Amino acid sequence: MESLFGNLEPLTHTPNKFADIILPVPIPRMFTYAIPREFLEQISIGSRVIVQFGKKKILTGIVGKVHANPPSAYEAKPIFDVLDEQPSVNPMQIQFWSWMADYYCCDLGEVMHAALPAGLRLSSESRIQLNPEFDPENSQYPIDPRENKILEALENAGEISYSDCEVILETKTILPIIKSLVAKEAILVFEKIQEKYTPKKVSRIRIQQKVLEEKGKLQEIFDSLGKSPKQESILLKYLQEVPVLNQPERNNRGIEKSKLLSEGDSPSSLKTLIKNGIFEAFEEIVSRIDSIEATRESVELSSEQKRALSEIKDHFEDKQTVLLQGITGSGKTEIYVKLIQEAIESGSQALLLLPEIALTTQIVSRLKQVFGDRMGVYHSKYSDNERVEVWNGVIQGRFPFVVGVRSSLFLPFDSLGLIIVDEEHEASYKQFDPAPRFQARDSAIMLSYFHQAKTILGSATPSFESYSNARNGKYGHVILDKRYKDAKLPDFHLSSLSEDKRKNLLKLDTTRLLREKIQQALDSNQQVLIFQNRRGYSPYIQCESCGWTGQCIQCDVSLTYHQFTSELRCHYCGYKEEVPTACPQCGSGDLKTMGMGTEQIEESLSLLFPEARIGRMDLDTTRSKHGYQRILDEFAHGHLDILVGTQMISKGLDFERVTVVGIWDGDRILNFPDFRSGERAFQQITQVAGRAGRGNAKGDVIIQSRKPDQHIYDQIIKGDFDEFYLQEMHDRKQFFYPPYVKLIKITARHQDYKTAEQGAIFLHNKMSQIDAKKILLGPEKALIGKIKNQYQFETLIKLDRSGAIQNHFKKELRRIIDQIKIDSPYKSVRYVIDVDPN
Ligand code: ADP
Ligand code: ZN
Ligand code: ZN
Repeated sequence: MESLFGNLEPLTHTPNKFADIILPVPIPRMFTYAIPREFLEQISIGSRVIVQFGKKKILTGIVGKVHANPPSAYEAKPIFDVLDEQPSVNPMQIQFWSWMADYYCCDLGEVMHAALPAGLRLSSESRIQLNPEFDPENSQYPIDPRENKILEALENAGEISYSDCEVILETKTILPIIKSLVAKEAILVFEKIQEKYTPKKVSRIRIQQKVLEEKGKLQEIFDSLGKSPKQESILLKYLQEVPVLNQPERNNRGIEKSKLLSEGDSPSSLKTLIKNGIFEAFEEIVSRIDSIEATRESVELSSEQKRALSEIKDHFEDKQTVLLQGITGSGKTEIYVKLIQEAIESGSQALLLLPEIALTTQIVSRLKQVFGDRMGVYHSKYSDNERVEVWNGVIQGRFPFVVGVRSSLFLPFDSLGLIIVDEEHEASYKQFDPAPRFQARDSAIMLSYFHQAKTILGSATPSFESYSNARNGKYGHVILDKRYKDAKLPDFHLSSLSEDKRKNLLKLDTTRLLREKIQQALDSNQQVLIFQNRRGYSPYIQCESCGWTGQCIQCDVSLTYHQFTSELRCHYCGYKEEVPTACPQCGSGDLKTMGMGTEQIEESLSLLFPEARIGRMDLDTTRSKHGYQRILDEFAHGHLDILVGTQMISKGLDFERVTVVGIWDGDRILNFPDFRSGERAFQQITQVAGRAGRGNAKGDVIIQSRKPDQHIYDQIIKGDFDEFYLQEMHDRKQFFYPPYVKLIKITARHQDYKTAEQGAIFLHNKMSQIDAKKILLGPEKALIGKIKNQYQFETLIKLDRSGAIQNHFKKELRRIIDQIKIDSPYKSVRYVIDVDPN
């Protein structure tokens, strides 16, 4: 029954609905706001809203929860505005974000920031408005004339941007003035959410519908145009291009304006035609994403592939995750295709994660041929606008299948059936900086779990984590150990640099064997890949007289010499300087380059093999959007004989004519100071080697080494992953390393050495009091003790694997750090928590 006083209730009456909002602030929780009546219908989980935060800020956030419990400690402020008609984010995503924030010890706001594509992201422009509570007559603070100008502008305009202020005051230094106005509580500062996303529009022209509908009208118009040949020719062209006579009424799309007006046509004639009611102009929103038709059926699987596929399906009966361990070239991708087709045909969504799409364009184009327009690609080299289009395309069902890099886990899927993580061992699946420092493979498994979907982890050289889960039966395990069509695996040669004293005339670090194999390949018109995971010309330059080396002024690392740009560059902070002509320390002119990077290898190979066409693929040559593709195409079309590159060349490339793969410096891969270095070396060398001999000719892999007697080389050459695994696992168990324990790394950063060190020790002592099964190591100066003028000290925590212990430890850890931030001598220290570090 309706209350007698129902209508008398003021609209601003405290509502009984509240929303917890995720805001981009470094505070690990959501904030409760009241939902005004007028928004009740529109607001749900995932809506983007605008709220006032604190006294002075207006922010945009995402609704995380809707409920009826007013906050106990404060009065909830109302939500200002709602940006979305339909929520941009779904409840499953929020669940996923929350898991990620908890597991990786970061703030929900940080996850939100990483998850939303910049085009949907919220804050963009700083603006100000008058504080409604401000009364200029009775202000207790004097307002100076410049401030007054701003207030006057606000009286008139309601709100203005920072740059408007700059114009009004004719100065760039407006920040102090704005701050002062805020302090006087005269204005509010807020971030204006302009959707960065702008749909792409094209102008089109069509004949007015009424002209088409009236019988004989067209003829009449024609007759009347006899004296205006320019108009007549435009109309004629239109009629040639657009079949108007049997045009269904609703599909009168006309023609793109730019197509209608060819050279010589006058835009003013077109205008006249429009003015006279014959044509009309309109705009149509078009996609920025090129439309590609599917051009091939999926292939017939080989019997090996069929067996693997049916094993996978069997495992899926009772397991969520399957490890597909298939050597390079065994045809995993075609198996993925079948599984993806089945998933989307049954109405679910599918996601294929790749390490870094730029590195795997080949696989993307293969998939495009099969899935065409139903496949979205999500990738950091896409523009903001394109990313928003993929995002919305997932919501609208345009892309039931997405291929993407790790950030594609954040897309608004609502019914995932299948996630595939290809090359699941790849280190780049771990986000290093900034937070959330998530491991995309592990997060994919969690996301799958939320969707009740299935996960495939694919690799030739699985991560130890996945392999041990497969061995202990937690994951299904399916093996493909033959190459498709029995293509031969390459021969391995370990080539000793120290034994091979007969250096060539050019004094290059090449063994005779590598040189011979390269020459043979060139002679028989085959191709060569040379792998060296170090870009630039040489890792450092040194003074022969006094031993001086170029060091970064902001980091504890030597500067890499880049010959092409004639610079010394820091690969950690980007600092660069010109190469000195003489030693800055002793003045000697005897500066020598030490060690070889890709740039120098390219140069020396061109001296050794003057007839060869040599290309280079590394970060420096592939920065532009199509740089990578260009080099790849040149190589694929046989315009290059030798390709020198960093790990970029080790992934997913599939070229039939590559018969020789040279690993320039095997020791360098092995000797990285990290408990995973053996695992990584095995993976990297096997991956690069897998590029050889994919066609009919058998390939050769030459690993150059100064210490060829290291045991791991044997295992790599034998391809005995199992033996290698068992031995490594033995060590890991003994010394408490993953997967036997969980690692958390905490880095204390500060610009003052002592403060960083003391801050690390202070936290260490607090952590040692947490009641959990754990081992604490450190704090120790980080491998690179200083980056960008911040000193870093690391503590490593080895935690028992039990989920309860981990949760307890993480919770306590965050409580301790919060406490340090509030009240301790180490307030200003930055503590970076990295869960499951690489
Ligand atoms: P992986 O991903 O395991 O390294 P790929 O899927 O790239 O292997 O397969 C290696 C090569 O064999 C590719 O060129 C692929 O097109 C081809 N191939 C694999 N399976 C089939 C098949 N069933 N029919 C035809 N070609 C296939
Ligand atoms: Zn010197
Ligand atoms: Zn630096």
